[in-house]
Amino acid sequence: MTERLNKQDRLTVYVEDLTHDGSGVAKIDGYPLFIRDVLPEEEAVIEITKLNKKYGFAKLIEVTKPSPNRVNPPCHVFWTCGGCQLQHLSYEGQLERKRKMVRDVMDRIAKLPHVPVHPVMGMDHPWRYRNKSQIPFQERDGEAVAGFYKTKTHEIVDTDVCLIQTEEADVLMETIKRELRQIGIHAYNEKTHRGVLRHVVVRKARATGELMVVLVTRTQNLAQKDAMIEVIRKVVPNVTSIIQNVNTKRTNVIFGDETIVLYGEPVIVDTIGDIKFEISARSFYQVNPEQTEVLYNQALTYANLSGDETVIDAYCGIGTISLFLAKQAKEVYGVEIVPQAIEDAKRNAVINGIDNAHFEAGPAEIVIPNWYKDGKEFDVLVVDPPRKGCDEKLLTTILEHQPKRIVYVSCNPATLARDLRILEDGGYRTQEVQPVDMFPHSTHVECVALLTRE
Ligand code: SAH
Repeated sequence: MTERLNKQDRLTVYVEDLTHDGSGVAKIDGYPLFIRDVLPEEEAVIEITKLNKKYGFAKLIEVTKPSPNRVNPPCHVFWTCGGCQLQHLSYEGQLERKRKMVRDVMDRIAKLPHVPVHPVMGMDHPWRYRNKSQIPFQERDGEAVAGFYKTKTHEIVDTDVCLIQTEEADVLMETIKRELRQIGIHAYNEKTHRGVLRHVVVRKARATGELMVVLVTRTQNLAQKDAMIEVIRKVVPNVTSIIQNVNTKRTNVIFGDETIVLYGEPVIVDTIGDIKFEISARSFYQVNPEQTEVLYNQALTYANLSGDETVIDAYCGIGTISLFLAKQAKEVYGVEIVPQAIEDAKRNAVINGIDNAHFEAGPAEIVIPNWYKDGKEFDVLVVDPPRKGCDEKLLTTILEHQPKRIVYVSCNPATLARDLRILEDGGYRTQEVQPVDMFPHSTHVECVALLTRE
């Protein structure tokens, strides 16, 4: 096929599908071309940019037959910014695509064509949903720029507005950028490793309105910090916590080791359902609080607790799911690999007066077999692993001990499907899968699946 196609060829194609990262797919005699900015069922003129042996890339020249689901992206930097991938698709269209993505892996990878995949639970107002923004700052031609990265680069798309973050984050992005020079602070330069301000991280507790601003700096010395605090307090009067985090290294990792409270409290407090959480500058916390509640309620429904059950929450983070389940269970055991998160989980149990949740730091695939060895028994197992899915050793342990119900929370449908197949082969039956939209306008989709023993 590649012999007949050349770079810079222009042709009209029909877009068949969308990949998991939001590229359109068109096939020329079976040879797939990946094209950004197009949608399924569209006809478009494209120009070939790269030809590999098994697939190629092309750029959009003109959409000749638009999809009925195509909309004008409301964000003015959507076409260059890497933050969102699907703003040109109506929200309903996005939810349909996400359901189809899950359906596909259930058929193809899990080999479960009969398992129901429910319509995706979406948001009524899918904007301004992120409670955390990590805004990179850079110096460009002597001026500060701030925004988000272009896809697969460290090049900032300079902007003052991001429609999925809080209004406070917009105000801070714009103000700090503008005032930085005045204050006498330089934005960081990745190439020369000079300049001071690397990132501004803004976190808002949705339930209480408390706001934290973290200034990530290359040097500990922040001579103009009083001026900075004053500017921040002036433009976001609801700020309750201003933190400096020092990251001296040449690295892509945002945070460094040292954290200093410049103003107010070291934490902000948020609630999910009726559970309180203290969030510090570096704690892991779900970024879409409204949908987190939807997700956890679904997990709770699937867990079907009567109050007599002993439950495992594997990959528990700061214990959010564990504490959410604790009131309806006899005992909950949470396990998580990051020790700091387990400390947060224990403190969160205390501030909520919950004494039937127990937490242990370590790899789930080692800690859980040890619990079984100690003679503990479990009725329900909740897992919420990272993108790579459950460790094989953990799946083996599950199949050995056969808890009655498994609630699988997943941020990656492909590894969910792979693990469901393994659990099915070991005697579990997948009853249903409920996708939840945690990240509108991105290609991500979260799922909760219920498995029961045969
Ligand atoms: N359930 C939590 C966090 C889920 S994110 C919530 O809803 O907020 C997945 C978590 O798994 C992360 O906190 C990560 O640190 C943890 N993790 C990764 N590998 C692990 C392992 N092998 N054992 C236990 N936890 C692990």
